Formats: sequence, structure tokens, C-alpha cells
Amino acid sequence: MSLTRRAALGAWYYGTLPWRRRAGRGGDAPVSILFYHRVADEHRNPWTITNRQFARQIRWLKDRFELISLEEVQHRVRAGDSPRPAVAITFDDGYAENCEHALPLLIKERIPVTYFVASQFVLEDKPFPHDVEAGRPLPVNTPEQIRALAKAGVEIGSHTRTHLDLGAEHDRQTIVSEVAGSGRDLAAIIDRPVRYFAFPYGQQRNLNAEAFRIAEEAGYEAVCSACGGYNYPAGDAFHLQRIHGDPLMLRLKNDATVDPRKAYRTMPFHYRPLTSVQACGEAAS
Ligand SMILES: [Zn+2]
Repeated sequence: MSLTRRAALGAWYYGTLPWRRRAGRGGDAPVSILFYHRVADEHRNPWTITNRQFARQIRWLKDRFELISLEEVQHRVRAGDSPRPAVAITFDDGYAENCEHALPLLIKERIPVTYFVASQFVLEDKPFPHDVEAGRPLPVNTPEQIRALAKAGVEIGSHTRTHLDLGAEHDRQTIVSEVAGSGRDLAAIIDRPVRYFAFPYGQQRNLNAEAFRIAEEAGYEAVCSACGGYNYPAGDAFHLQRIHGDPLMLRLKNDATVDPRKAYRTMPFHYRPLTSVQACGEAAS
């Protein structure tokens, strides 16, 4: 981000801080769910944040928010009441380096975290195609790591089998395999049910109404997108909306508190025809 844009964002964030504080107070404060991918100091790329940046963000979040599980997010949304500003932490994909510092830090501090894994890469010990294409195949978690994380209290979630874009055309069998099958793969590793599912890529164009319904039938408690929206009390407790855990601290501060520009700007995503309408915020910046 250029210095000019950073200065403008700083002016916007600090100028709207009183509004944000008011919006984050009371029983109708939205809950922000952050998603990270990879915390590591080497081979940095757009989906990596350094260990130092991550530790700093967690300190900042811990000082200002209650850090809660997805189960508690759902509870607050269903109850229509979120008494204090709250944030939930999630990770996508399943990068091995997360086990070096980031996850041990969260476990030590007893901060709830949901860790979404694309099961086939873990089972076959193979790097993600997007990393191979970028010329840097990065190590993925092993089944033993996933099992140890679950034992340490980390909620293991499904992120499909093959990190498939479910927003593209697929037959039902493929979607069932990616959504329900991946949950079964992971449940077999951790020996407990897998309760949450996160869409790969997670933008509006990557969502799929049939996949929502298959996830419900498969018994998932909720599915996560990554469109940058907040979760409002009395809103949808099945479709949880997430925000990118941006490495730039100022952007994280701007997004984790309620950004007035994003608070009321929503795009509907219909996955239950005629019964309800889900809202999905703008794309993560
Ligand atoms: Zn992913």
C-alpha cells in the first residue's frame, strides 16, 4: 500500500473511531471472524503473515475483543445478543509452518481457533497447486499434526478435499465428495465429528447454493465464506462471514472493528430458495 493510501486509511480509521466504538457496544455488536492462511517468516507471499506480525495482531485483538469460538459466534447470532465486541480466529488450507509458532501461541493463550484443512493434500502429503504454480511448493500439515491440534483443543474444519472452486460448474457427486467426503476424511484422522466447513476462495463467485444444502445434510453446524462481511446478532447462524486477517496492522484494525463503509453494504446470497436471504459483504480487501 502506498504511503498516500496508508495515510488516507489512517485518517479514515482514527476519524471514525468514536463511531466504531459505539457500533461495537451493546447487544447488537456484529462479530468479526478473521481468516489467516500461513504464518511463517520464510517464503513470504500474499497469503503469508510473519510470526511477529501475527503475534502483534493477536496482542492487539486480545486487548480489545473477546476472542471466541465459532460455536460461540453462532450462539450469539442465534440469541440476537452479543454483549461485548468479539472476534473469532480461523485459518484456511493447512500449512505446516502454522504449527511452529502461530498455533502453539493460540493454544498457550487459550484462544479458540478453527483450522480449515483441504483433506486430500494432508492425506497425500502434496503441496497446493497454487504454490507449485508460483514456483514454491510449501509444506502442508501431516495427519499427525492435525490429530495433535485437535487433541490440543483446535477445532478442525473442512476446506474440501482438493481445494476446489465450488462456484464453478460441478455435478452433485463431486460436490458431495468435496463437502461431505472431506469432513469424513478429517473425522477419521481426528476421531471426532467435523462441525464446520469453509468454501475455498470464499468470495461470492465461489459459493454454491447446492453446496450449502449438502453441507446442511452432511451435518455441518455452519459454513464459512470469505467475502469480508460481519456477523450480526439475529442474522444467519449457518452462513458465517469472514474477513481477511490482513498482514498490514492498520488494515486489520480497520476491518476487525466495524468499518462504517462496510457495515451496511451487503450483497445477498440465496441458498435456501423462498425461505431466507443471506447477506454477504463486499470482497475482502
Ligand atoms: Zn483455501
